[in-house]
Amino acid sequence: MRVVGLTGGIGSGKSEVSRILRELGAPVIDADALTHQCQERGEDVWRAVWRRYGWGVLSQDGELLRRKLGHVIFRDAAEREALNQIVHPAVRQKIRDRLNDLTVLGHRVVVLDIPLLLEGDWREGVDEIWVVYSDPDQQLARVMQRDHLGSEEAQRRIAAQIPLADKIRYADHVIDNQGSLSSLREQVKQLWHNARTTG
Ligand code: ADP
Repeated sequence: MRVVGLTGGIGSGKSEVSRILRELGAPVIDADALTHQCQERGEDVWRAVWRRYGWGVLSQDGELLRRKLGHVIFRDAAEREALNQIVHPAVRQKIRDRLNDLTVLGHRVVVLDIPLLLEGDWREGVDEIWVVYSDPDQQLARVMQRDHLGSEEAQRRIAAQIPLADKIRYADHVIDNQGSLSSLREQVKQLWHNARTTG
């Protein structure tokens, strides 16, 4: 089985690409969704997060408040790393399980949608890398609008990642999302068609 790692920068349009791929019938593993599953109340990861960050990052009924945790870790690289050490091994196991399921179902090409493919230690798990690119101004505007953030907070979140201009150096394919959604769709359709026919 060939694993395509799909990534981008926050606000570059990766989720749109992922949605289009699903519409086209691609099996897409959503690393963020698996991360959220690991953080559900009572899970081992949830317990470890609570031990490190205390009640301040939990709601009254014990749900993890990702936005609060986000405010803590996006300001502090050491805390981001500590959280990764808690979360990544559990997510990695869930990804392995999903890949096994999809192999059993006979899929030859699978997309792993993973925002921090290049920041984290994930690269050896994929066979090729697709990066969704928007220019920095578009990225900022899209993050502010989608996440209802001021420009300073949005910029901080963008700055916590490797700049997109650097990420595209690792790409086997760059998906150009500087245009319309329909042009994005056309590119993704072509790319998926090629991946399936050469897979
Ligand atoms: P990412 O997953 O990379 O963080 P999203 O796919 O969520 O980014 O895109 C960020 C926001 O910008 C979303 O609200 C999305 O609908 C919008 N968006 C993405 N691409 C385009 C585009 N080509 N034209 C207009 N809006 C777009």
